[in-house]
Amino acid sequence: MSETTINDTSYKPTSPNSKLDFASLWEYAPAPESSANLDIKERYELFIDGKFQKPSKGIYFKSVNPANEEELTEFAEATQKDVDKAVKAARKAFEGEWSNLSAKSRSKYIYRIARMLQERAREFAIAESLDGGKPIRESRDVDVPLAAAHFFYYAGWADKLDYAFPGKTPEPLGVCGQIIPWNFPLLMLAWKIAPALACGNTIVLKPAETTSLTAMMFAELVKDAGLPKGVVNIVTGAGQTGAEIVNHKGIDKVAFTGSTTVGKIIQKSLAGTDKKYTLELGGKGALIIFEDAAIDQAVEGIINAIFFNQGHVCCAGSRLLVQEGIADTVMQKLRDRLETLIVGDPMDKNTDIGAINSKQQFETINKYLEVGVEEGAEVYQSSCSIPENGYFIRPTLLGNVSQSNKVVQEEIFGPVLTIQTFRTADEAIEKANNTPYGLAGGVWTDKGSKIFKVGKELRSGVVWANTYNKFDPTSPFGGYKESGVGREGGLHGLAAYVNLK
Ligand code: NAP
Ligand code: MG
Repeated sequence: MSETTINDTSYKPTSPNSKLDFASLWEYAPAPESSANLDIKERYELFIDGKFQKPSKGIYFKSVNPANEEELTEFAEATQKDVDKAVKAARKAFEGEWSNLSAKSRSKYIYRIARMLQERAREFAIAESLDGGKPIRESRDVDVPLAAAHFFYYAGWADKLDYAFPGKTPEPLGVCGQIIPWNFPLLMLAWKIAPALACGNTIVLKPAETTSLTAMMFAELVKDAGLPKGVVNIVTGAGQTGAEIVNHKGIDKVAFTGSTTVGKIIQKSLAGTDKKYTLELGGKGALIIFEDAAIDQAVEGIINAIFFNQGHVCCAGSRLLVQEGIADTVMQKLRDRLETLIVGDPMDKNTDIGAINSKQQFETINKYLEVGVEEGAEVYQSSCSIPENGYFIRPTLLGNVSQSNKVVQEEIFGPVLTIQTFRTADEAIEKANNTPYGLAGGVWTDKGSKIFKVGKELRSGVVWANTYNKFDPTSPFGGYKESGVGREGGLHGLAAYVNLK
C-alpha cells in the first residue's frame, strides 16, 4: 500500500496572485471583541444547594487565559466532604420539590434556562474564548447557540416522555454525577444537564479544571432562573473531585465525557455497582476523499474537520485518506488553503485558529509532533505568524505516515492532520476502521452508492457525507469501541436518563 510523501521544499502556492496572502498582499484590520464589560469575579465558590459555598478545605486553584498566560480568576477545589454535601442536596431536591413538580413546570424551567442563555449569549461567548482559547467566532456562532438549542430541544420533551417511549413508563434515575472536558465547556454542560433535567433527575456536575468559568456563570444563571435549590449543583476541582463524584454511593448515574484513559478508570470503578453510566470518549476520525469528489468542497471539509476548535474535538477528522489519483491535487489545494488560515488572538473575529487550551495540552501536541518526526513523518506547517506569548500551534500536516504509526493510531487532540492514500473503497474502509476508536468519520464522493457503502461499513458513531462537524440536538452522538458507551442527543439522549418500566 503506497503512502503519499510530502516533500516539504516542493510546495509552491498555486498562483501567488490568487493566494490570499495576509502577510503582504492585504490584511484584515484587527477586530477584537471587547471583554471590558464582562464581570469576571476574582474567585468562584462551589454551587451547592442553590447557594455559593466555600470549599471545606479553603483551597482554590488558578485559571489561566491560554492566549496570554495571564491569570483570569480562581475556582474552589471541592473535596470529598463538599461532593458529599452536593450529592445530599441533589438527593433532597430529587425526593422533594423537583419530583413533586408537574412535567410541564419542569419544562418551563428548562425553557427559561434556554432563553436566559440566549439573552446572555455574548457574555458566555466572551468568557468561553477567554478561558479556553477558542476563537470568538466559534464560541459566538457554535458553542453558545448550540448549548441554548439543547435546552430548547429537551424543554420540549420534558412533558412528552410518554410519547418518547410508547407503551412504557419512564421514571427518572435520581441523582446524576456528570463530568465534562475542556474542549466545549458550556456545550458539554448543556448536553449533560438538559436531558437529565427533562427526565426529572437532579445533578452534581464537575467542569474541567482549565475551563470552569462558563459553568460557574451557568450556576449564576440557574440561581437567577429560580430553579429549586439542589436540583443543579456545580462543583469545581481536579480529577480527584471527579473521582469522588463517580465513587459516591448516593449517585445513581455517571455521565462522563473525556479521555479514554479516564473513561476506563471510571468503568472499572463502576463495575459491580448498580450505577448506570454513559461514557463519551476519544476519537481518531478518518476523512475519506474519493476521486469523484468535488475537490474544493472536500478541502473545505478537511479544514473544518481538523482545524475547528484547534482540533480539540473528539470527533475531529484527524486522518485524511485520499484516493491516489487525486492525492497531489488535494495536497496542493490543502496547502494553499492552510496558508490562508489566521492563527492568533481568540478574541479577534478574524481568527480561524485560537490558542491551545492549556500548557499541558500544548506540550502533548508538540510531543506528538516529535514522535511523528521520529516515525519518519514529513511535517508541513503553514508559514503564518503566531503570537509570542500564549500556547499556539500552526496548522500541521503529517505526510509519509503509515497505519501502525503512533500519530495515526493515537488521538493528538490538536491541529494536526495525518495523510495517507488508498486505491479502493475497501482499502479506505479497512484503514479507517483500523484504530482503537470509532467515534466519527467523513466521506466525500459524488456517488450515493459509495456514501452508503462507507457509511455502513465504518465502525463510527457518526459518518458525515460531503460535510463535517454538523451538530444538532435532535441527533444522537456517541461511539463504538474505545470511543465510549451510550449515546447523547436526540431521543437516545433521553433514554440514558430514565428507567423504563
Ligand atoms: P480527561 O482528562 O479525561 O478529563 C475529563 C474530565 O474528567 C475532567 O473534568 C477531568 O478533570 C475529569 N477527571 C480526570 N480524572 C478523573 C478521574 N480519575 N475520575 C473522574 N474524573 C476525572 O479529558 P480531557 O483532556 O478533559 O478532554 C479531552 C478528551 O475528551 C479527549 O479524549 C476527547 O476526545 C474527549 N471528548 C469526547 C467527547 C465525546 O462526546 N465522545 C466530547 C468531547 C471530548 P480535570 O479537568 O481536573 O482533569
Ligand atoms: Mg482557562
